[in-house]
This record gives sequence, structure tokens and C-alpha cells, in this order.
Amino acid sequence: MKGMVVRGATVVDSSGVRRADVAIDDREIVAVESSIDAAGGRRVVDASGCLVLPGLVDLHAHLRDPGNPECETVESASRAAARGGYTAVVAMPNTDPPIDSVEVVRYVQERATRAMTEVAVAGTITAGRKGERLAPMGEMFEAGVRLFTDDGAGVQDALLMRRAMEYAGGLGAIIAEHCEEARLAYRGHMHEGRWSSFLGIPGIPAEAEEVMAARDIALSRLTGCRLHLLHISTTGTLDLVRKAFKAGLPVTGEVAPHHLSLSDAEVASYDPQFKVNPPLRPAEDVRSLVNALVSGEVVVATDHAPHPADSKELPFDQAPPGMLGLETALGVVWTVLTSGSGLSTGLDDMPVLSFEEAAAVVVEAMSVVPARIAGLEGAQGGTVRAGSAANLCVFDPAATWVVDRNRLASLSANTPYDGRKLTGRVRHTIFRGEPVVVDGEPLR
Ligand SMILES: [Zn+2]
Repeated sequence: MKGMVVRGATVVDSSGVRRADVAIDDREIVAVESSIDAAGGRRVVDASGCLVLPGLVDLHAHLRDPGNPECETVESASRAAARGGYTAVVAMPNTDPPIDSVEVVRYVQERATRAMTEVAVAGTITAGRKGERLAPMGEMFEAGVRLFTDDGAGVQDALLMRRAMEYAGGLGAIIAEHCEEARLAYRGHMHEGRWSSFLGIPGIPAEAEEVMAARDIALSRLTGCRLHLLHISTTGTLDLVRKAFKAGLPVTGEVAPHHLSLSDAEVASYDPQFKVNPPLRPAEDVRSLVNALVSGEVVVATDHAPHPADSKELPFDQAPPGMLGLETALGVVWTVLTSGSGLSTGLDDMPVLSFEEAAAVVVEAMSVVPARIAGLEGAQGGTVRAGSAANLCVFDPAATWVVDRNRLASLSANTPYDGRKLTGRVRHTIFRGEPVVVDGEPLR
């Protein structure tokens, strides 16, 4: 193996921005210098005009494996992830069966050995994800699980959540909550507000998310356990998170690309591609979320949720919630940050960032901090320098492209961005020193 040189790029990482070539040998970066020749037969990967970033890390991906191989598998999701510039994803445990035992953890880990990214396995908080009694978190922790969640639903029982946080806190694990008070959200299909009244679709109030976020932040204070809030979608939840930061609590939060780019006005099409949980929110919330991202208060996680085509052809109130995210996340975030506007109408008036500023936000919110939250630091989310693991995303910040649902690497096609034009495209992805995506195409 002769290694490679990534040539002609601008390197952006936590230490700043510089023009440099990157030499890789085996699984490691061996040199980052202004000019490196390809002596010794090193493969040259052209990155002119591109940014070289540490590989992206997704804290929230539904790989549908085990359970729904027609929708997605560990392998197909990792191909979609690699195409999106990711070199690591956290596999959410609401599979069939759920990842609530060492056996299922091992199954996903075994599948992950053939993946095109690192796959960190999350375990459930409760057995069967039923919200009744705790899953064997200690055993799953021993098997490598660092993040526990019942995502898809919130843990409704406050006492059970307290016990989960006491236990996870003792292990040094993190509890990730899907904040949704089930009775408040009952039978809702979109955000409760002006659009839901106009369209006659039953709504889910912002408060269904906020009451559970408030409860869990209080329980983090009580137990000392690290708490990660999944897919934050409202201004009210952001306010709670800021208060938690001020109090010095070990709380982090993530926002999904669709909540940063689309508003509930999209539901006027009655197109189930815009159905997601938590639902798309009004423009004011989208603006708050983008501001929180720019100020470093939240990270980005995709909530990649593949669904079979026929399920998204059902009427809005019968279709399952969820959208694909891995292949479009960086393009969507880049488009929003550099254009100062979202992808729904009425979403202008947002901060407009230079390429350098936007890249700094992306590095922190889509790589460095997620790697730390997932317990993957070391191998992921590092600085681009000699001695670091060679997990890189080579990104063309000026390339424009139109999302085509029929040309995705995912086995599903339920993207809300079909036909939309995005700015910024992943050109190459390098995982463990090997190019796995070249010129936008997965190599296997
Ligand atoms: Zn969720």
C-alpha cells in the first residue's frame, strides 16, 4: 500500500484554515504541508477548490437493521453516509427487534465490519423500548455502547428516567432523549399552529417537546447524568438548554437539517415527505435554530429515517413520520449558512456566513463535538495533522446540485429535498485512509 496525497485543498479544522496538501499512509495522516509530491507512487486525489474537513459524525441515524432490509441496511446506510461526507454514524436502536441486548448490539457491530463508515451502536434505555423497565445497559456498555435512547418515543415515566440516568451516569454513558410528552402529542401529525388550523390537520404543540426537555434537564441536575436532547425543534427548548448551560449542567442538544431549512408551511402540499417527528415548525423557530447553530449551542444530527415508497404514498395522517438525511445534510446546512435563507418560503433574514465562517461551524457542529458526544474522539472529529486518523471529508463549497431522489445511495427515496437546488457538495470521502467516495460516487 503506497498511500495517497489529497492535493490542492484548503484544510479547515479546529485549529483554523490553511492551504495544504494532505499525505496519508495506511490509516493515518502522515503530513500536512503546503506542497507534497507524489513520490513513491502515492495515489493523487484531486481536491482543488475544495475544503478538507475532518470526516463528519452523525449522532442520529436509523439504519433499519435488523428488521427492514428493503428500507435500509447497515451497509446501504453507510454508503449513503459516506456519500454525505460522514465517516461515522450512531445507529439508533429502534430497530426490529430493538437494540436492547448484547446479542443485537453484536449483530449490528458485526454488520458494521463491512460498512463504509464507523458505526457506533446505541442501545435502548428500556427493555423492548416499551418504557416499562430498564434494558441491560451495563452489559451493553461492556459491549461498547456509549449512548442510550428510546428514540422514536420519549421515556414517559419520570421515575424510570431518573433510574436510567442514575444507572447510565454511574457507567459514564450518555442518555439521549426524544423529547415528546405522548399525551400532549397524541394523534397530532404536524406542528400545532396557524397552518394546522388552516389545513385541518391535528397538531402537536411545541410544549409536547418542551415539557419533557424541562423534566429531563431537571433530572440531569438531580442525577449528574450527561443528557443529550435529540432533534430540538423549538425556541422554547433552546431557551431551556441555554439555562442548563448557565447552570453548568452536562447537557447537549442537536438539530436536524430539515428543522434548519424547512418550515411547517411545506405541509400545505399535504405531501407526507414533509411529515416528520418532531414536526416542521414555524419560520420563527427555524430562525432560532439556525442562530443557535451559528453560536455553537447545538450540533447537527440527521435523524436519517428511511421509509418504503408505498408508506409515503399514504394520506398525510396515515403516513409514517421521517425523512432521509445522510446524503443531503451537509449541502442543506451549507446552503442555509451561506445564503442566509432556508429552503421554504419566508425563511430569509438569517445570518449569512462566509465560506470560512460556515466551515468553522460545520467542523464543530458536524464533526468535533458529535465525535466527543458519541465517545468517538481519537478516531473521529480530530484535527487534520500528522498522526491523526485519516477520516476526511473533501467538500466543494461552490458546487451546486439538484437533489434527485432516484439517484441516492440509500435504499429508500423519502427525501423532502427532491428537485431542490443545493450549494456545496461532497466530492470525496476518505475513511480509515481509503477513498470510499470519489467524485461523489461510492466506490462499492
Ligand atoms: Zn426521535
